[in-house]
Amino acid sequence: MSNKRILVTGGAGFIGSHLCETLLEQGNEVICLDNFFSGRKENINHLRNNLRFEIIRHDVTEPILLEVDQIYNFACPASPGFYQYNPVKTVKTSILGALNMLGLAKRVKARILQASTSEVYGDPKVHPQKEDYWGHVNCIGVRSCYDEGKRVAETLMYDYRKQNNVDSKIIRIFNTYGDRMLPNDGRVVSNFIVQALQGDDITVYGDGAQTRSFCFVDDLVDGIIKMMNKDDFTGPVNLGNPGEFTILELAEKIIKLINSNSKIINKPLPQDDPMQRKPDISLAKEKLSWEPKINLEDGLKRTINYFKSVL
Ligand code: NAD
Ligand code: UDP
Repeated sequence: MSNKRILVTGGAGFIGSHLCETLLEQGNEVICLDNFFSGRKENINHLRNNLRFEIIRHDVTEPILLEVDQIYNFACPASPGFYQYNPVKTVKTSILGALNMLGLAKRVKARILQASTSEVYGDPKVHPQKEDYWGHVNCIGVRSCYDEGKRVAETLMYDYRKQNNVDSKIIRIFNTYGDRMLPNDGRVVSNFIVQALQGDDITVYGDGAQTRSFCFVDDLVDGIIKMMNKDDFTGPVNLGNPGEFTILELAEKIIKLINSNSKIINKPLPQDDPMQRKPDISLAKEKLSWEPKINLEDGLKRTINYFKSVL
């Protein structure tokens, strides 16, 4: 058991709500900070009776002072539809959010962990992606507000550690899925499951030959907490499931698991859509003794059951 005071920004979101739940189960006091842009009160409603849990409606682009031991900085919309809705705000959330949380970490001497992303590798020319790859990122495209915002957030974590001795850490999360994704989230796993359950066409963008590696949220949360509590290792470290699938394979798998009548249709490939993505997780294995345990089929079954219960 652990009894730290922990701040989770973006705590009402998909990953953040799972993180709050597990941290509470471990005995900690948890403050969930969120502006509810892409997160929901429903995600954390079941935690509200716990006296060790608090919710603060706040925007990370504004400073805040709280007495905490650890900060998980997860506030930022993650789905392309949400982060491209107001790209300037997305940049502010990543950069001002990181500055404000680093300022807080410095002031109260908290350890801070930044939720970075495989998007820092852009449309990668190295495969699979290792942490020492610098990436292939467009700084003036529809994904740039997210990718470059996250890259600067990493830079700030690095410089605050060097300049101000802030105990900062970086994880690079690869595509994660599971329960509590919004039905209208827009990311591929939730889109395909919702379409297949409702008998709608499955919208494969492009020819579906692009690849992704999908990590179930429970595995990810385990890796995130291991990284936070690991001393003498600042990262960045990749966290994801190295199983690699084409988007067409994913569509076919979901149709089969649901036994759906939906048809696959093709839609235009969005600008700068990465063609292939797969994490090299040898660093996480070595430093954190972490690797995912839930395979795609089992994780999809659990996610399908969730969407059946909410649709
Ligand atoms: P999400 O959209 O469900 O969660 C983000 C949360 O942050 C939401 O609750 C949202 O309301 C909140 N938020 C957004 N802007 C805010 C602001 N300015 N101030 C306060 N709160 C704000 O997305 P998620 O999938 O849970 O992602 C969580 C984090 O993990 C994000 O930082 C994302 O970049 C990162 N990440 C996720 C994935 C993935 O596959 N899910 C992959 C890579 C990185
Ligand atoms: N995608 C798709 N149909 C959809 C949603 C997404 O074919 O309805 C594709 C998208 O073009 C991308 C992949 O699935 O190649 C993963 O998209 P997502 O938005 O989930 O995550 P990201 O592109 O950020 O990895």
